[in-house]
Amino acid sequence: MERKILKSGEFLVNNPEPKDIFIPEEFNEEQRMIAQTCRDFLEAEVYPKMNDLEKCDRVLMKQVLKKAGELGLMGISVPEEFGGFGQSFVTQMLAAEITGAGFSFSVAFMAHCGIGTLPILYYGTKEQRDRYVPKLASGELLGSYCLTEPGAGSDANSGKTNAKLSEDGKHYILNGQKMWITNAGFADTQVVFAKIDNDRVLSAFIVESGMPGVVIGPDEHKMGIKGSSTAQIYYNDVKVPVENLLGKRGEGFRIALSILHMGRIKLGANVLGAAKKAVTDSVKYANERKQFGVLISTFGAIKHKLASQVIRLFASESAVYRVSMDIDEMINKLKADCGDTGRATIEAISHYAVEAAILKVYGSEMLDFIADEAVQIHGGMGYSAEMDVERGYRDSRINRIFEGTNEINRLLVVDTAMKRALKGDFDLFGKAEALYNEIDNITGGGPAGESYFAEKTRCVDNLKKIILLCIHGAVKTFEKNLMNEQEVLNNIADMMMETYISESLLLRVARLNDMKGDISVYKDILDVNIFDTAEIVRKSALDAIYSFASEENTPALIKAADTFTRIRGLNVKNARRRIADKLIEDNSYRF
Ligand SMILES: Cc1cc2nc3c(=O)[nH]c(=O)nc-3n(C[C@H](O)[C@H](O)[C@H](O)COP(=O)(O)OP(=O)(O)OC[C@H]3O[C@@H](n4cnc5c(N)ncnc54)[C@H](O)[C@@H]3O)c2cc1C
Repeated sequence: MERKILKSGEFLVNNPEPKDIFIPEEFNEEQRMIAQTCRDFLEAEVYPKMNDLEKCDRVLMKQVLKKAGELGLMGISVPEEFGGFGQSFVTQMLAAEITGAGFSFSVAFMAHCGIGTLPILYYGTKEQRDRYVPKLASGELLGSYCLTEPGAGSDANSGKTNAKLSEDGKHYILNGQKMWITNAGFADTQVVFAKIDNDRVLSAFIVESGMPGVVIGPDEHKMGIKGSSTAQIYYNDVKVPVENLLGKRGEGFRIALSILHMGRIKLGANVLGAAKKAVTDSVKYANERKQFGVLISTFGAIKHKLASQVIRLFASESAVYRVSMDIDEMINKLKADCGDTGRATIEAISHYAVEAAILKVYGSEMLDFIADEAVQIHGGMGYSAEMDVERGYRDSRINRIFEGTNEINRLLVVDTAMKRALKGDFDLFGKAEALYNEIDNITGGGPAGESYFAEKTRCVDNLKKIILLCIHGAVKTFEKNLMNEQEVLNNIADMMMETYISESLLLRVARLNDMKGDISVYKDILDVNIFDTAEIVRKSALDAIYSFASEENTPALIKAADTFTRIRGLNVKNARRRIADKLIEDNSYRF
């Protein structure tokens, strides 16, 4: 089936049809088997050892990772020619989702399989790939990624780690310090970013931890993900063979950014697994715990929480697999041109930078919300270190910080979309201008007898219109200084993010309508989500408009915000109760 694939950020001005998107209900048998293998691995090898892993036992974590390697779990994203299983991007994301329920194991595993392995696959020479990738794919070697320094976090290009060519021209002599490096305690390989001589931009190197002069610090004491090794690494005159320069001189910053796009999109999948576990833990507890003579799952306040967890999770999942298939389609096209799966993959992922940032921010905040409510549903027991929800709550928090903080990613959402539009990928500014010129004549309502899905599509389309008007107004007011107006950019990012997620949910439910019998509970999810999204978009739009608009055009813009975010009311209490009731009956997350 030919799918119409939108470019990154194009959702702002064009609507795909339900048939254009992939939904998790379409996983094939092989994908389901891979998911089950990952699930079985967590049950057999991770959960029973979780308490010991939490003591930051480097040896134990290494053993568990090696076991995952022996089972083939580390080769899912690696092409067959390098010893992996060459799975599609959708399958890679599914594996990331399932392993995401593995607490700190998940962080160690993803750091190895993603940022530790893939830079070499994507950017390595044939020799580098042959030498390292098969061993990383089998777990014989374990990997890490070393970008952050004490003085260089979000401003990653400002690092001081330096490389100088040796007099005989055979080595780069590396000096400097990296910080917060996941898997530092046991990794065999490090992808290290450093500046050669006085270069303005970074270069990348493959460093082996056993090279003389590499010193690994003790593990940090962390709030969560306590089982994952996180340490500083020092480089004291480390002789790195010139053949270990990854990519070209000065290409390191580009490599670092591309790998971060990949890391954040996979984080979007990871958090789904953690969230599904937290929701299941929540409902199981609510179905066991009695107060006032009845199960707490019978209380409206608890149902409200359970339903809210499900709505955000189901919506987030819809967006994750929508983008994953878009990326697969693009990989296939690019591969036909260049013949190289690795290069095609990173190019496709980097293209979808807007959506990658959206999935990272929405997903990490979705998980924080769910983890927090999971603790609350458990009451005092939620505060006990014996419970998985306590660990889940602490572990969740890091997702808003690494792979680019959510502040940086919110800025990226808007900045990247505008840059893509300026490049000519889609007509953002023309459409925004046209809308603004018609601002006195706008209407948001639909025709009488409008169908359910037509109404929802119109609602989402209206949300896009107010986003365009805000982008138009902000650009006109602040011009080149817009990037300094972070509060307004945040407002626009929130509108874009919520709208993209709602649209993905809408498209999924519309597809389910053709595939399943009774979809009433999915309609409930969609109804409540759009009801909530419209309010978030309205508030963000008002914040933005009052921040950029002149006295003269404020009234028209505020009226537009009200018109485009007005939706038909509904009994959200009953809708949420029906969603919660399904969860309570299933006693597990099975949507
Ligand atoms: C457990 C853990 C594991 C990690 N693993 C790795 C790893 O394996 N490899 C690696 O290289 N790094 C790793 N990191 C580092 C991580 O990526 C950084 O912590 C992160 O990028 C933020 O950098 P920072 O800590 O220096 O915070 P800062 O950059 O100092 O940020 C502090 C605050 O200022 C905000 N801020 C900064 N710049 C801006 C701006 N321009 N506009 C608006 N707000 C801004 C941030 O959003 C944040 O709220 C890890 C960190 C942790 C905690």
